[in-house]
Formats: sequence, structure tokens, C-alpha cells
Amino acid sequence: MSMHDDILKVLVSEEELKAKVAELGAQISKDYEGRNLVLVSILKGSVVFMADLMRAVSIPCSIDFMVVSSYGGGNTTSTGLVKIIKDLDGDLSGRDVLIVEDILDTGITLSNLVPMLKMRNPNSVKICTILDKPSRRKADIAPDYEGFAVPDEFVVGYGLDYDEKYRNLPYIGVLKPSVYEK
Ligand code: 5GP
Repeated sequence: MSMHDDILKVLVSEEELKAKVAELGAQISKDYEGRNLVLVSILKGSVVFMADLMRAVSIPCSIDFMVVSSYGGGNTTSTGLVKIIKDLDGDLSGRDVLIVEDILDTGITLSNLVPMLKMRNPNSVKICTILDKPSRRKADIAPDYEGFAVPDEFVVGYGLDYDEKYRNLPYIGVLKPSVYEK
């Protein structure tokens, strides 16, 4: 039984992701030249994007990871305020922080997280997300760098899960309705 059998349709292919990440990496390398860049990955959803994006960035940078509360197992609706479950290892003071996200959906997570990070005296805080679902936005927040806008559908793959599965799909897809009935 392959994971691919559970996919109804592919929204963003592996090739499209690869080309977009190269483009984003080149733009970020240009914009952050001579700065003090730290890529902050919000786990677990951004792990695949982070691994690809950091290799597409050609300027010196460091990386750090954070775990915040988001969707629970099997639940497909947002929960509310963000809680830090695992904090960053490094100090942000004087750093140019680029948050690396899987998807900007309601925007509630990042609209809560950005002010928390800004209190740590960084030089700047910006957002880079591979997916954007602007139709679902509840908070007043927009990405500084974005890969693809997706429709209001629950997507999986390229780091994004359903009940902790499908993160290892190399593309972004939509699940067959039968998967939710299992
Ligand atoms: P927010 O609604 O706060 O912008 O989104 C927070 C988190 O919810 C995202 O980082 C992501 O992990 C999860 N999320 C939002 N939309 C989707 C989706 O369509 N699929 C999956 N797998 N996760 C999503």
C-alpha cells in the first residue's frame, strides 16, 4: 500500500517546488547579503522546506528550530493562541530573523509568534512560507516571501501532515475523502 494511493490530486509538483525554492533562495541571498541571517524553522511542518531552502541560500547564515502548538492529530481546524513547546537555542539580538513556515493559513500562529520574537531585540523579523492560503486569513499578516497560493483545501506533503502522516510525500497534494473516514 503506497501513500500515493491516498492522494486525490497533486496541487504542486516536485519539479515546481524545486524551481520555486531555488528562486526563493536566490532572492533571499540577494536581500540578506551582508546581514546577520538566521533561518528559523517552525517544526515539524517546515522541515522539508527548511532543508531545501537552506541549501538554496548562498550567503552565510545560521539555522534554529522552534516547536509551537498547532493542529492536533486528525483535527483540521485551527485551535487559537500559540504556545512555545520547544524554544530556539540561539539569541536573536542583532540578528535578521527569517521565519521558515510550511503554510500561512489563518495566520494566527505567526501573528502571535512574530511579536514574541520581536521582543528579543532582533534587527528584523520576516516570514518565508512555501504555501499561502489567503482565503482563510483571520489575522492581519502577510508573508514577505511565498512559494504558492493554494485554495481553501487541506493539503499534505512536503512536510505537511494529516495525523502525522504524509509529511514525506515529495509533492503537495489533497487527500481522498475516504482517508478521513478511516
Ligand atoms: P495558521 O492557521 O496559524 O496560519 O496555521 C498554523 C499551522 O496549521 C500551519 O503551520 C500548518 O502546520 C497547519 N496547517 C494549516 N493549514 C494546513 C493544511 O492545509 N494542511 C496541513 N497539513 N496543515 C495545515
